[in-house]
Amino acid sequence: MAAGVVKPLSVLDRADHACDWRCIMTNHPEMSTLPDGTALHPEQLTPEPGESMMKTAIQRVLDHFEQISRIPRCSKNEAAVARWFERWAGTHGWPSRRDPAGNLLITVPASAGCEQAPVVVIQGHLDMVCEKSPESAHDFARDPIRIVRDGDWMHADGTTLGADNGVALALGAAIAEDSELRRPPIELLFTVDEETGLTGAKRLSPGFFEGRLLINLDSETEGVFTVGCAGGRDVQIHRELNF
Ligand SMILES: [Zn+2]
Repeated sequence: MAAGVVKPLSVLDRADHACDWRCIMTNHPEMSTLPDGTALHPEQLTPEPGESMMKTAIQRVLDHFEQISRIPRCSKNEAAVARWFERWAGTHGWPSRRDPAGNLLITVPASAGCEQAPVVVIQGHLDMVCEKSPESAHDFARDPIRIVRDGDWMHADGTTLGADNGVALALGAAIAEDSELRRPPIELLFTVDEETGLTGAKRLSPGFFEGRLLINLDSETEGVFTVGCAGGRDVQIHRELNF
């Protein structure tokens, strides 16, 4: 689940604002010091106003996620969601382009004063796993995902939710739109067809994007960044079973 990534991303870029650190401390009480070793006074763990800021940030991510979920986007059927993001980028004046494989790149300028910072690529995939319960009449080619909110939980009505990897798309969009963040130039790299063979990523051309720092938001474990990968491989094992 990539949702946990929103916290470190937001905090790293706002580390000079104590209120954001208070918010993180509240969520992660095991972190009782700032990065420079300064011990935090209990008063500094007061959730306000950092908590409300974080709630706003999370709500922005969820708002994007709900919009994305209205667009059918099974693997190999990502054109509509790519067009949606192109229009979204256009409303902000950010250039976008697609490569021959269908991968989408949106270029977001740095915030004031950060123009010289290295470009950071934020990567996720446009497609989702499309599975449904036997009784569901859902048509993945046409119907929006019906999201159900159940307290702090979010799930879909009879289908997969598509948080893998819609949360990454939503996080990228929210980071790009957050005018309060101090952030470097960003390239939102949204690849196609991850779920049925990684064909979008495999067909990426090296010159399609500029950044040399890439954050992949398709990890498995909340709060954990994967810093390297040797590649991907499918393995099929056949074994005779005797009962
Ligand atoms: Zn994924």
